[in-house]
Parts: sequence; structure tokens; C-alpha cells
Amino acid sequence: MHILIEYFGLFSGYLLTALTIFFRYAFFAGIAFSIFYVWRRKHYLRLKIQERFPKYQQIWREIIHSAYTAFIFATMGLGIYFLRQHGYTRIYTDIHDYSWGYLVFSFLFLVVLHDTYFYWMHRLMHHPRLFRLLHKVHHQSSNPTPWAALSFHPLEAILEIAIIPIAVFILPFHALVLLLFATWSLLWNIIGHLGFELFPKGFVHHPVFRWFNTSTHHNMHHHQVKCNYGLYFNFWDSWMNTNHHAYKETFDQITQKEKHVSKPVFP
Ligand SMILES: [Zn+2]
Ligand SMILES: [Zn+2]
Repeated sequence: MHILIEYFGLFSGYLLTALTIFFRYAFFAGIAFSIFYVWRRKHYLRLKIQERFPKYQQIWREIIHSAYTAFIFATMGLGIYFLRQHGYTRIYTDIHDYSWGYLVFSFLFLVVLHDTYFYWMHRLMHHPRLFRLLHKVHHQSSNPTPWAALSFHPLEAILEIAIIPIAVFILPFHALVLLLFATWSLLWNIIGHLGFELFPKGFVHHPVFRWFNTSTHHNMHHHQVKCNYGLYFNFWDSWMNTNHHAYKETFDQITQKEKHVSKPVFP
């Protein structure tokens, strides 16, 4: 009986985690979609990266795959919970175990680590032998919407979330840092799949900001496929020469467009 209650507690905790992940995604993607695709659609039209608007079937597919991803992420959460129970991870909950400076450092470290991990994992998934199996689902949206933020094949979802177990074996992380990181990563993914450019004119030419990726950057990845593999930063794409040759030009065209859209953006 005791063990049954324990299993029930675990199962409901698991279900609650999966639902929280899904509704957090639905909340932010829903806000972005409502503003850019419904409420202020006309106002932001000039910032639309690809002219056409996606069909509703695509949006449903993106939501359904994102729901699967929420369950995969929750499964990983459960795994980490068990590892932590047995003392295998370096996750801590008392902020005074380390300094505040360390807390900030660990967040920035996680972002940089994830950026590097993502670039190389992403390039691997584009290998012809792996693409169909792992990454094709994500690329079914060649004109993505914010709902595509978690639209992955279940195997890709495992690779996406694998950064967390890797990180918690390397360094100590406060639970709050992990939560903040998950939200930051989700928001960045929503921006990357927004379909509209958010960053201002000149952003890709600025000495500092040009090292950050933009919505146009990831949108071009979905449309052109063999380019622009990076996530948050442009370092790896620059170093490995994988930026699309017309990336900056396309960004300029979108952000310098007058009120109206007339010509195709991609050369
Ligand atoms: Zn890709
Ligand atoms: Zn994508």
C-alpha cells in the first residue's frame, strides 16, 4: 500500500511537470502568436520574414509535437530527480552554498555551454544519415511559427534536453538557475521561430549585437536548411563559415522595409 501511494505521488508529480512545461510553452507561444499573427498582424506585416502565412494544419502539427516534447522533458526531469535523490547530481537549493557571483556565473556558463552543445548537435542532426530520423520533423515547418519552438521528433527532444544532465554533472547549479535557464531557452526558441524580425535595423552590424542571432537567422535555417545552425550566438556559425551568404543582407531588407511587403526576401 505504502509503495502504491509513493508511485501515485511520483506519477502525479510527473504529470504535473509535463503539463507545466506544456502550458508554459503554450502561454508564451500563445502570446507571441496572438500579437503577431492575429491582433497586430497588419501592423507588423512589414517585419514578416517570409511573406506567406502558414496553414492551420502546420500549427496543429507544431503544437502536437511540442506536447510530446513536454512529456520527454518531464521524463528527463524525473530522471534527474532520481539521480539527485541518490546524490549523483550537483544541483543545490540553498543559495548560501555558493556565492551570488557564482549563481550569475553558473547561468552564463550554462548559456555558453548550451550554445556550443546545440551548434554541434544540430550539425550532427543534419548529417544525411541522421536527418530523416531525428530532425526532419522540426524542419517540416519551413516557414515556422512560435508554436514550432518545441516541435521535435521525440528522439531529437531527448538530444535537446540532454544538455541538462550533462551540465549538472559538470558544475553545481542552483535549482533556480535551471528554471531560469529553461525559461530563457524557451523564450529564445519562440523568438527564433516567430516568423517576424524583432531586432532593430543595424543590429547585425553592431560590434557587439552582431554576435547574437536573430529571428531572421533561424528562419533562414528553416527555409534554406544548410546554413545558420547556431542558437543564441553567432560565434560558431562565423567561425565555421556556416552563416548564409545573404544573412545580413536579408536582415537589412526586412528591417529597412517601408510599411509594405512587396518582394521576396530571400535571394
Ligand atoms: Zn536544423
Ligand atoms: Zn527551428
